[in-house]
Amino acid sequence: MNHFHSPVPTFSLPKPIARLGDLAYNLWWSWQPEAVRLYRDIDPVLWERSSHNPVKFLQKVERKNLNAAAQDNHYLEEYHAVIAAFDRYINTDVTWARVQYADLIERPIAYFSTEFGLHEALPMYAGGLGVLSGDHLKEASDLGLPLVAVGFLYRQGYFRQRITEDGWQEAINENLNLAESAILPVLGADNQPVIVQVGMPDRSVHARLWRIQVGRVPLFLIDTDVAPNAAIDRELTTRLYYSDLERRLEQEIILGVGGVRALRALGYAPAVWHMNEGHSAFSSLERISELVAGGGTFEAALQKIRGGTIFTTHTPVPAGHDMFPVWMIEKYFSNYWPSLGIDRDQFMALAFQHESWGDVFSMSLLALRCASRCNGVSELHGQVSRKMFAHLWPDRPVEQVPIRSITNGVHLNTWMARRLGLLLDQYLDADWRSCIDDREMWDKVRDIPDEALWEVRQHLNRKLAAFVRERARLQWIRGGTHPVQIVAAGVLLDPYMLTIGFGRRFATYKRAALMLRDVNRLVRLLNNPARPVQFIFAGKAHPADDPGKRVIQDLYRFIKEANLGGRLVFIEDYDMNVARHMVQGVDVWLNTPRRPMEASGTSGEKAGLNGVLNFSVLDGWWREGYNGENGWAIGTDGVLSDAEEQDAADAESLYETLEDTIVPLYYDRDSRNDVPVGWLRMVKESIRTLAPMFSTSRMLKEYASDMYAPAARHEPAD
Ligand SMILES: *Cc1c(COP(=O)(O)O)cnc(C)c1O
Repeated sequence: MNHFHSPVPTFSLPKPIARLGDLAYNLWWSWQPEAVRLYRDIDPVLWERSSHNPVKFLQKVERKNLNAAAQDNHYLEEYHAVIAAFDRYINTDVTWARVQYADLIERPIAYFSTEFGLHEALPMYAGGLGVLSGDHLKEASDLGLPLVAVGFLYRQGYFRQRITEDGWQEAINENLNLAESAILPVLGADNQPVIVQVGMPDRSVHARLWRIQVGRVPLFLIDTDVAPNAAIDRELTTRLYYSDLERRLEQEIILGVGGVRALRALGYAPAVWHMNEGHSAFSSLERISELVAGGGTFEAALQKIRGGTIFTTHTPVPAGHDMFPVWMIEKYFSNYWPSLGIDRDQFMALAFQHESWGDVFSMSLLALRCASRCNGVSELHGQVSRKMFAHLWPDRPVEQVPIRSITNGVHLNTWMARRLGLLLDQYLDADWRSCIDDREMWDKVRDIPDEALWEVRQHLNRKLAAFVRERARLQWIRGGTHPVQIVAAGVLLDPYMLTIGFGRRFATYKRAALMLRDVNRLVRLLNNPARPVQFIFAGKAHPADDPGKRVIQDLYRFIKEANLGGRLVFIEDYDMNVARHMVQGVDVWLNTPRRPMEASGTSGEKAGLNGVLNFSVLDGWWREGYNGENGWAIGTDGVLSDAEEQDAADAESLYETLEDTIVPLYYDRDSRNDVPVGWLRMVKESIRTLAPMFSTSRMLKEYASDMYAPAARHEPAD
C-alpha cells in the first residue's frame, strides 16, 4: 500500500555496538532512561554538548571511546538489554490497542498539529500545544494505536532566547542542521523525494516530505524549502506561527490541504482524522473535494467526512482562535470552492464570524462544522467551549452543546526522573509501567520509606542546582554578559532550600509577576534566615508579544536587586530540557493563570508525578487534580468579575499559603533523621493521585474509546 521509503544513514561503529546507529533514528530511545545512558556513558561531556542528540553525538564521538564501550562487558550487557527491549517493542503483536480495538488498528488515525515537542534537539515546538502533541504520539506508540502524524519541518524551529542586561528578550534564530538530526528523507519508488503541490492564488507551492520515527508512529513533516519554489515560498515553513496573517494562512493551507495530499501520496487511507487545534482545519475541505471529484454533492461529502473527523480545541478565549479576514479567504479560495461544488456564500457560511474589526473566517468554526466529535482539554475548558460555541447549536441548551472534554495528560516515561522510576520499581508491581493509568496500583506509593523518597527528592534538587549553575557558568564564559546576569542566572542557588519553580510561556494572563505585588512581603519570605525560599523562573514570550516581553523585563529588573540575595533566578531559553530539570528538581510548582485562561496546562502534571507539589490557581487540569492533600490551591473555585480585585485576592492567597503552610511544612523536620515527614506525605499523595490521572495513558485511552473507535466505526455522534 505504501510506496515510499526513508533510508536510515549508517555510522561506522564497532560491530558489537553497531545498533546504536539505528536506535538513534527512532525517538523511542528518548523515553528510555537506560537507552539515554547508552549514549551518555560513552562520553558524558560530548553528550551534553550535542544537546542530547544521538545522531550528532555518533557523528562526533571519538573512535577510542566507542572502542572502549565495545570492549566493556558491563556496557555490553546494558546495550544488549536495551536493544532487545527495542526490538521487542517494535516487533510485538501484543499491544493494548490490538487487544482492545482489533478492528480499529486496521486503518490509521491521521493526527495533524502545527507543532510537535518530542525532544529538545528537535525545536519544532513553541510550548504546551507542541509538547502535548509529542506526548500524544509517544503514548499512541506505546499503546499500539496506529497513528500517522503530519506537521511541518521548521528549518529554524522556535527561537532561542537570550535576556539582555536590561531584561529584554532577544530572539536568536538558528538553522536546524538536518544532517545531524534524526529526520529522514521520504523517497518514492524512484528514489526521488516525494513532492506534493498546493495551489495559491497566483502560483503553485511545492513541498517535500521528511519523517521522524516516534517508536511505532511515523511523523511526516512538510517542507516547502525546495527548488521550484520562489524564495518567499521556500520560507513558508521556516518558522512557527508567523505574525503576518497572510503568511499564516498560507502555512495553514499547506498543512491542511498539503497534509492530506501528502498522506495520499504516501498511500495512506486513514479511517480517522484528528485535527489538534484549528490550524489544520483546511484538511477537511480537501477531503470533501476528493469526494466531490469522485461525483457527489458537497452536503453528502461533508456528512461522509464528518463521521471520521475529530477536533480538539485548546483556546479558552474567543480572540485566541485563529481567524482570517473574509477578503483574504476570498483571495486564496475563490479558485478552490468550485472543487467543493459550492459558491462563495456557501463557502464563507462554513466559518463566517462577525468580529468588531471586520468579517472573518474562523478556523475553529470550520473545524467544528467538519468534525463529528469535538473536545476541550479539561472539564472547565469543556464548559467554557460549550458556552463559547453555543450559538452554533441554537436549538440546544448549553450543556448539550456537543463539545466534550478530555483532560490533557503527560507521557510519564518522558517526564519522570529516572531515579524516581527506579525507586518505584522497588515498591510498585513489576509491570507498573504498562498500567500507569490504574489508580489502585499507585496506592503502594504509600509504602515507600520516607528516607528513601527524600533521598531521591534531594538528589533531584542537587541535579537541578548543578544544571542551573553550569548553564550560568557557560553564559559567563560565552562573554558579553554583565556579572549581575550571572547572579540572575542562578549561581547563588542552594540545593537544600525550599525551591519554587515557574516555567511556562510568558503571556500576560499567566501573571508571572503576581508574587511581586507586595515586594516587602516577598523579600521577607526570601530572606528569612531560618526558613529561606528561592524561586526559579523560565519561559519565552512570543516574539511579537511585547506585553509578554515586558513581564519578563519587569521581573528581570527585580531579580537583579541586591536585597533579594540572588534568590530569584531566571533561566534563559526554556525548552524541554530546562523543563525536565525544573519539573523534577524544584519542590513546589507555581502556576498563576487568570482563570479560565489555562485551558489545561501540563507542566504541573509533569511536576506532580515527580512529587513536586503543585501550588496553583484552580484552573485547567489542577481544578480536577487538587484534592486538598496533594498540593495547594491559590484562591477559590470561582472568579471575581473585576480582574484587579482578582489579582489582589489571588496574591493575598498566595502569600498567606506560602507563609502559613508551605514554608513551615517544608522546614518541619523529624529530629532523628532530618526528614520532612508531613511534606513527604504530600509528595506521596501527589505521585499516587496525579501520575495515573494525568498521564497520556489515561488520556489516549479516552481518545480511543470516546473519539477514535466510534469515529472509525461510523457510530452516530451526539
Ligand atoms: C510542558 C511544557 C509546556 C507546557 O506548559 P504549561 O504552561 O503548563 O502549559 C511548555 N513548554 C515546555 C518546554 C514544556 O515542557
